[in-house]
Amino acid sequence: MSDLSQEAVDGLVAQALEAFAAANTTTELKAARLAHLGDKAPVVLANKSLGELPKEDRREAGQRIGQARAAINAAFAAREAEISAAELAQALVAERVDVTLPVEVAPAGAPHPITALMDLVSDAFVAMGWEIAEGPEAEGEWLNFDALNIGPDHPARATSDTLFIDPIDNHLLLRTHTSPVQIRSLLSRPLPVYIICPGKTYRADEFDATHVPVFHQFEGLAVDKGITLANLRGSLDRFAQAMFGDEIRTRMRPHYFPFTEPSAEVDLQCFVCHGESVGNPDKPCRTCKSEGWIEWGGCGVVNPRVLAACGIDTDVYSGFAFGMGVERTLMFRNNAADMRDMVEGDVRFSRSLKGAAR
Ligand SMILES: [Zn+2]
Repeated sequence: MSDLSQEAVDGLVAQALEAFAAANTTTELKAARLAHLGDKAPVVLANKSLGELPKEDRREAGQRIGQARAAINAAFAAREAEISAAELAQALVAERVDVTLPVEVAPAGAPHPITALMDLVSDAFVAMGWEIAEGPEAEGEWLNFDALNIGPDHPARATSDTLFIDPIDNHLLLRTHTSPVQIRSLLSRPLPVYIICPGKTYRADEFDATHVPVFHQFEGLAVDKGITLANLRGSLDRFAQAMFGDEIRTRMRPHYFPFTEPSAEVDLQCFVCHGESVGNPDKPCRTCKSEGWIEWGGCGVVNPRVLAACGIDTDVYSGFAFGMGVERTLMFRNNAADMRDMVEGDVRFSRSLKGAAR
């Protein structure tokens, strides 16, 4: 560019202003900026050509071009502000949300009844001053069996009953009951101990209406000075009432467990026939098979060998323990007949029992 006259420079400014005014979007304005302020824009090239001028003309031409560039820059900034304000206004209109329109509300979920029931059980014992204890689901064989006085030849230790973790030489298994938590607690907590252990347990069972390979238990353990069977009976009755209402009756039937002595099974009076089906062939009861009672869980006075394995002085301390299945309790409490419903995760099942586990 050799013509740096006032007229020519004014012409450049006019062209740039026209181009900016004609741009209506950010993209168009960007293109106009490149053309009139970019490296190859006439006014920029004019600036570069100043050096070719005779010395006496340079100053004046330089001023002219400087003013022209300032004018073009100012025009660009003004137009840029206008366009971005307009685009923002447009976006606000286009993306407007009418908060008064009706919406489809996503269906609410519900806590799983197993979780809700475990919370309920825990609450009942915490209210009596007990503590919650937890442990790992992958457990050492010693804690799951030996420490509980379950001998090396006990059938429960067979791979057909228990899920061992490969390689079997590591003596690691998926706990078959929550009892190892009792051992862990006795080994780590100061006496006296009053704990409730809710949690998942595993057995190599088929999956059908009354069996699931993964299920839930809660176990209780009390170890203190002077604990007897009478304490166990009282605690269980109180707990049964918290679960099934004040009218519920329980009974203890002698049984055998390696970790308690004496041991008993705890039965609930049938909540369907209330025992009226017994010896009454006209009124048979399917729930209790007309026996009047249903098995709920197991319990007993802690075998001193278990306490001794945990280093506890059995001349001073004694204890009781009990354990029930959460699924089984839920079946009785909320009339949930098929255990498969409890694992399949259909929210309709949870919702149908919503509030039931309270
Ligand atoms: Zn019955």
